[in-house]
Amino acid sequence: MTVSAKIILKKGKEFSIQRFHPWIFSGAIQKQEGVSTDGAWVEVLDFKGNTLGFGHYQNGSIAVRILSFAKTAPDESFWINKFLHARQLRRSSGLPSSHTNAYRLVHAEGDGLPGLIIDYYDGIAVVQAHSAGMHLDRERIVIALQDVFSDELKAVYYKSHGTLPGNMREAASEEYLFGMGVVPHIIYENDNKFYVDWEEGQKTGFFLDQRENRKLLAQFSKDKKVLNTFCYTGGFSVYALSAGASVVHSVDASQKAIDLTKKNLDLNGFNTNVHRCFAEDTFDFLKDKHGIYDVIILDPPAFAKHRDARHQAVKGYQRLNTEAMQKIRNGGIIFTFSCSQVVDRQLFYDTIVSAAIQAGRQIKVLHHLNQPADHPVSIYHPEGEYLKGLVLYVE
Ligand code: SAH
Repeated sequence: MTVSAKIILKKGKEFSIQRFHPWIFSGAIQKQEGVSTDGAWVEVLDFKGNTLGFGHYQNGSIAVRILSFAKTAPDESFWINKFLHARQLRRSSGLPSSHTNAYRLVHAEGDGLPGLIIDYYDGIAVVQAHSAGMHLDRERIVIALQDVFSDELKAVYYKSHGTLPGNMREAASEEYLFGMGVVPHIIYENDNKFYVDWEEGQKTGFFLDQRENRKLLAQFSKDKKVLNTFCYTGGFSVYALSAGASVVHSVDASQKAIDLTKKNLDLNGFNTNVHRCFAEDTFDFLKDKHGIYDVIILDPPAFAKHRDARHQAVKGYQRLNTEAMQKIRNGGIIFTFSCSQVVDRQLFYDTIVSAAIQAGRQIKVLHHLNQPADHPVSIYHPEGEYLKGLVLYVE
């Protein structure tokens, strides 16, 4: 590939790139030459003219997302190599397996591909571009996926309308870029079955990032009364029932999500006597549920998407957790999560401590939870760690 556009950094701004941090903020740029469109490939150089890497340019606070730290421009095998490496990383952690056939193939910076998410549902790749550059490179991405997965790949669905910068959204229709999938599609996760609908569902259709945490929940669920709030497709509910929970109640504000949960419970053959669904706001639902549940799952959507919303978000997490801590039975278990990137692990922990103080109960931390291995975090890009959770024991 020929890359003629150049970004030259200010003196001293090369250090973070030399340490493999993949973002260049606009304020770090000394000069740019031949940079025309959002999404174009650019060569990044230090103030002395030494090449630091190559990446996608975008007019904004993050001006360049580095995709290669090599001294020479990426060649034809660039995308194939990236996907081979990504697949190798998943294989090394046992994905896919005879129990689980859906996983995240590409987790943006964690796989050296800032701006790109690919979830792989047993032969169907759902591609989500978060940057202009990934949008412009989508055809190359599809060709490389076909090369890497060959006959195993049945379809590639492009779903970037909600994730691209505003000015690109209109051009980004949601469509099959290769093949054709039939939705809903059934996947296996730790031997539990789920329908996935990438065309109509939230994000890429399923939250793969809770796989290991759902498995852990199963260990706490036998003969227990379980409340799964913010249930979406009912992931935690299915695991709790598989593990022998005596009652499972699932709550989501969206009727669509509740319908999906019901379908997934049917799919796994669960008797409706032990399960009920509520299309309700979690905060309202919890108000009069004193002393009913042994296990409560709190997995809300990101309360803060930006730094300026962080304070409000923290208050939201605190209120939610205090409520659950006050309502749960003695000896109960709370699985509590935050997927807000701007609320880091320490801030989340501190928020839970203050919720506990507010609730005035004796609480022990049993587990610290995070995102699974198919959502890797580059050690040089700690911002990539977004999912954190705690398992709490409430005396
Ligand atoms: N736990 C889920 C993922 C949760 S996604 C899983 O394992 O797959 C967050 C969900 O919260 C969405 O389905 C959204 O509809 C729901 N939601 C958002 N605000 C809510 C509220 N105030 N009360 C209940 N559900 C809410």
